[in-house]
Amino acid sequence: MTGTTSFDLILRQARIAGGDAAPVDIGIRGGRIAAVAPNIAATAPEERLDGRLVVPGFVETHIHLDKACILDRCRTEGTLAEAIAEVAAAKRGFTEADVYARASGVLEKAILQGTTRIRTHVEIDPRIGLRSFGALQRLKRDYAWAVDLELCVFPQEGLTNDPGTEELLVEACAAGADVIGGCPYTDTDPNEQIARIFAIARRFDLDIDFHLDFDLDPARMDLDEVCRQAEAQKWGGRVAVGHVTKLSSLPAEALAAKARRLADAGVAVTVLPSTDLFLMGRGHDHDVPRGVTPAHKLLAHGVTCSLSTNNVMNPFTPFGDCSLIRMANLYANIAQAGRPAELADCLDMVTRLPAKLMNLDDYGIAVGNPADLVVLDCRDPAMAVAELAQPLFGLKRGRRSFTRRSPMLHRP
Ligand SMILES: [Zn+2]
Repeated sequence: MTGTTSFDLILRQARIAGGDAAPVDIGIRGGRIAAVAPNIAATAPEERLDGRLVVPGFVETHIHLDKACILDRCRTEGTLAEAIAEVAAAKRGFTEADVYARASGVLEKAILQGTTRIRTHVEIDPRIGLRSFGALQRLKRDYAWAVDLELCVFPQEGLTNDPGTEELLVEACAAGADVIGGCPYTDTDPNEQIARIFAIARRFDLDIDFHLDFDLDPARMDLDEVCRQAEAQKWGGRVAVGHVTKLSSLPAEALAAKARRLADAGVAVTVLPSTDLFLMGRGHDHDVPRGVTPAHKLLAHGVTCSLSTNNVMNPFTPFGDCSLIRMANLYANIAQAGRPAELADCLDMVTRLPAKLMNLDDYGIAVGNPADLVVLDCRDPAMAVAELAQPLFGLKRGRRSFTRRSPMLHRP
């Protein structure tokens, strides 16, 4: 590094997840990472990180901004069927302004928690039409300074059983939807829905993200058909499935076989710990199963896995602060993943791996990538998850996008 190289900003003494233990400097120029080296010999505005951990921002593969924050309009009974019915009724009253107002509030929380890339799932059907989609398209433009937002349109209430839905999904794809989603478990003909979603994906050259296998009965799994289609259509690496709580009901050997199937077919998995814990096992009055698929065990077989928020303050999940570090900690705790390497895997499942799931090829702390950088108040990945390390500040394409003040003691 020569003394004449110029930077807009240098982050000094940063630790990088997956990198060497020794701190490095990160030089930023023109919104991109221009250098990563032990001691950058240049004069520029700088931030001293004193060995704190820097991540390229958290990545959320599965959130529902359109139906967030509607608890005041719904009952929260605690089963999946009731949650779908409650939201279906509330959805008729959604206006574009209403969706925008609620979604922007949630998006701002996510930004303040250090999230820099998001895939939001948007419901499309004849009741809501394209109102939510329109609101979120506007949101995507308005918040591009802080977060890259992908819109995944999907039929929450079924496709083949809901006339008019497929035409609206196609209309949304033609109008710029980024990803096509599905929800075979609410369809009267799950295999036909899966086939039609793959057909739309091929027509518009889109990745696919299904809501899938969302109960604890492993007898019949839509996963098998999704893997079969992913291979038949040569769509491996472009298909993700969310929830798949049925996998949590499988004994170790059967789980390992499904994991190998997922890895071979190139189908990634998103686990949604908060929702799955809240909705699964409602038929039990004691010894309630956790109902959360053990994502960290799938990693060993080569499955790409992410942990995500899913719902915020609605009948599916009457909780939520949009913190992915909290989601990683919640998952680690209930999955009994406590060894340092397992905790580091949990951080990976809210950063690097979800970026891989979304095929984001410009994500990561490497020269040439956008300077999306979030500083966590900790020294290493395992500690970040174990102690719920808080983000202190973040940059999006080199520009500071948020700051959180450290708590402070006032001694006598
Ligand atoms: Zn979902």
